[in-house]
Amino acid sequence: MSTKTKTTTAYDEFVSYLEKIFAVSTDEVKVIIKDFHSEMQKGLSGFESSLKMLPSFTDRAKGIEKGKFIALDLGGTNFRVIAVDLDGKGGTTIVGVNKYVIDKQYMEGSGEQLFDFIANCIKGFMEGKNIPLDKKLELAFTFSFPVEQTNVAAGKLLTWTKGFTASGVVGEDIVVLLNEALRKIGIKNLKVAALVNDTVGTLVAKSYTEPSCDVGVILGTGTNACYPEKIINIRKWRGMPPKGNMIINMEWGNFDKLFVSPYDKDIDAASPNPGKHRLEKMVSGMFLGEILRVVVRDLIKRDLIFKDESATNLFSKNGSLKTENMSNIEADTSDNLGEVEAFISKHNVKNIDQNSKDLLKHVSKLVSKRSARLSAAAIASVVLWMDPELKNKHVIGIDGSLFEKYPGYKDMMEEVFIELFKTHAKNIVCEHARDGSGVGAAIIAAIAASTEG
Ligand code: ADP
Ligand code: MG
Repeated sequence: MSTKTKTTTAYDEFVSYLEKIFAVSTDEVKVIIKDFHSEMQKGLSGFESSLKMLPSFTDRAKGIEKGKFIALDLGGTNFRVIAVDLDGKGGTTIVGVNKYVIDKQYMEGSGEQLFDFIANCIKGFMEGKNIPLDKKLELAFTFSFPVEQTNVAAGKLLTWTKGFTASGVVGEDIVVLLNEALRKIGIKNLKVAALVNDTVGTLVAKSYTEPSCDVGVILGTGTNACYPEKIINIRKWRGMPPKGNMIINMEWGNFDKLFVSPYDKDIDAASPNPGKHRLEKMVSGMFLGEILRVVVRDLIKRDLIFKDESATNLFSKNGSLKTENMSNIEADTSDNLGEVEAFISKHNVKNIDQNSKDLLKHVSKLVSKRSARLSAAAIASVVLWMDPELKNKHVIGIDGSLFEKYPGYKDMMEEVFIELFKTHAKNIVCEHARDGSGVGAAIIAAIAASTEG
């Protein structure tokens, strides 16, 4: 009896501890907003900051952009080649899309192999769609990694993220590498007209039909955001007359003024870029499953969950629990949690007791709720930066499976806006934005073509 009381107490205490370390209170959100603003200011002025605040060399769409383009999308789960038509009246047609899985060998091999692979995909796509290889055609390249651009179609990779490590690419101009690879296989008709971050593509695509959209956000494998900044405020950069706006790619995944738990420290230490991308490692789809996994591994070690040897093996394996698994588990509202059962028993774990199932779902919710609250804090920071009294409506165009598919994610974000802004919270409207990397990139190529010379 006394042992039982003791375990129950240890269990309750530990669960409370987890609840505490994963909570983000309204007051903490307010501190995050203050820190975000200070990092944004430093980043725009060229001082050391966890927010790079990269100029994108484009503004939002006017809705009149027109033409046929090939768009490439590298930086997510798949590499995609997309043919896009813009009709100049806000209408867009995706004429064709091919998806290619990027093998680990390309992500982690040499840059040359990676770009040769990309060039061959483009060639295969064009041949498959009967797009002539001798007629001039403009290419929009969505490359979703931190790039220091020098114009709309040139820029150097600052650092790889999201598991990519291909050698010989950091510090190089991405457009030059792509052009070299294309030329090697005889493709001469394609001109890279725009190098685009997916975040910027998302904002531009949404603003093509929705003029009050002024923040683009990615919540998928990674996380990032952008917004239009007054050129006069981009103090570190003096390339253009200080009139009008330019979209700033914040690279907010790297924001690091955050309370990190011991589990986050483990994940960070095991990552290819320790100390970097702290916000991304607490928010994005690439990491949520891993966070839950290391917490469960600890719960197993403390004998508080899944008392079966094979559970230890399952939760000791990197990557064995995916964000999709969490998403399915949280979507399961049945009492017996068949989804947990399905996930766990697939890995031959026996003796699955109800308490363990409930605890897994409970901890999953702590991890996903923290992600949503941190995303909301970051969005609130950007909106307040542009509109300190939240007088206007701001549509936030959000792309990514985490936002689109995670049960209750949007509601958890909106709770934060209500805590902060009460009735004014309705001025922040989060909407799913599609095709930033295809349509958005094509629009940017069209904007660039219309302002050339
Ligand atoms: P990407 O960011 O790679 O362009 P997505 O926006 O589709 O592509 O995001 C993929 C990521 O979203 C995956 O890495 C995964 O973590 C997460 N994800 C995939 N399916 C789901 C789901 N059903 N619920 C929540 N998150 C998901
Ligand atoms: Mg994407």
